[in-house]
Amino acid sequence: MKLPLNIDLKGKTAVVTGGGGVLCSTFAKAIAACGAKVAILDLREDVANKVAEEIVADGGIAIGVGANVLDKAVLENAKKIVNEKFGSCDILINGAGGNHPKGTTTNEYYFEGDIKKDITSFFDLDPQGVEFVFNLNFLGTLLPTQVFAADMLDKEDSVIINVSSMNAFSPLTKIPAYSGAKAAVSNFTQWLAVHFSKVGIRVNAIAPGFFLTDQNRALLIDEKGEYTERSKKIISQTPMGRFGEKEELIGTLLWLLCKEASGFVNGVVIPVDGGFSAYSGV
Ligand code: NAD
Repeated sequence: MKLPLNIDLKGKTAVVTGGGGVLCSTFAKAIAACGAKVAILDLREDVANKVAEEIVADGGIAIGVGANVLDKAVLENAKKIVNEKFGSCDILINGAGGNHPKGTTTNEYYFEGDIKKDITSFFDLDPQGVEFVFNLNFLGTLLPTQVFAADMLDKEDSVIINVSSMNAFSPLTKIPAYSGAKAAVSNFTQWLAVHFSKVGIRVNAIAPGFFLTDQNRALLIDEKGEYTERSKKIISQTPMGRFGEKEELIGTLLWLLCKEASGFVNGVVIPVDGGFSAYSGV
């Protein structure tokens, strides 16, 4: 893998949750290319194994581990596997996350009478859908941190990176649950950075702008393979006028992992968004 920065992570053990997914498999590959031993944790064990195999085929060191970030006992077991194979954890990337249709309204705005129509209005949002999204993004960041940060307490240079989103800065229409949950991830990033500041663990977050992945493809590309109205709106609000490429997150990731480069950076949420969060639309 071609890297935008060369940093040395030899001897380090990294855990990447959601590492079977589009963005975090790229993160896992970049971290492995810097020499770290990488454990890819994902609900989809087959996909985690496949990413690990690709890393190994490329000369890196990796294992896939099937794990649900919402099940602490399963995470403890995953930690045992990681510790046995690779030693204690130095780097944790909390990448597992996502939205759910039941936490999503059909329309951007509420119009009189919508409650009676065959759509999901605000009043029809399913509490279980909302709970699913909050759990996956927030608890799914907190629980792996409880489990893997235990390894980091006596080290000088450990790093946790959470994955937030644009909607944490200001909510996106239709997705109140995901927006609130990612705002909670950003807030928790600051809280954790303060909490762990005396024990040498730096905690930061990356807030990706808009990247086409499995999670959002149905919202952004129509059946004909063309941009949806929402895609066109996103691009018109992104000063750089395009979606991001997942490789464009790697420079920020590696910079945040490298003590020499970012050793005094703690508790920040960094947008990588082509200017989306800076643009008021006027
Ligand atoms: P993705 O769907 O490709 O990857 C998410 C991965 O998480 C999947 O492999 C999935 O199997 C795994 N996962 C889901 N639930 C899990 C659970 N309970 N336990 C363990 N693993 C679980 O999505 P992505 O776009 O690569 O997203 C990665 C992260 O980036 C997510 O936190 C997402 O919210 C965030 N994000 C994505 C974008 C974007 O434009 N794609 C923008 C901002 C933030």
